[in-house]
Amino acid sequence: MRIALIAHDDEKDELIDWALEHADVLGANELIATGTTGGRLNDETGLDVEPLTSGPLGGDLEIGAAIVAGDCDALIFFRDPMTAQPHEPDISALLRICDVRGVPLATNRASATALLKGLVDAGSAAG
Ligand code: PGA
Repeated sequence: MRIALIAHDDEKDELIDWALEHADVLGANELIATGTTGGRLNDETGLDVEPLTSGPLGGDLEIGAAIVAGDCDALIFFRDPMTAQPHEPDISALLRICDVRGVPLATNRASATALLKGLVDAGSAAG
């Protein structure tokens, strides 16, 4: 599977921690991420992540385009529910296209863990 990872700034530490906890499964799949998230995952987890454009500069839309192209099978998106984001329209578009395309989406740590377990149990994700 090709799994996309995004974390807003206040959630990045949480995503790093979660990714370390699930490195065995994540590492057995292809990973893409928005720019800063991907850079931190590469530097701090040892995972091999392809960093795309930074979120506020269009990275969310880039992941959305990958979903439209059928090149992204799941989205783990640690959103910050307490802070307004300048690229809110891009985020809404990304969430919408997940629903349009039936791509599994998790927006917090608990749902991300459940999503990953579900993919592995279903035999969809390596790990
Ligand atoms: P970033 O983008 O990984 O480049 O910080 C995430 C976001 O804020 O949407």
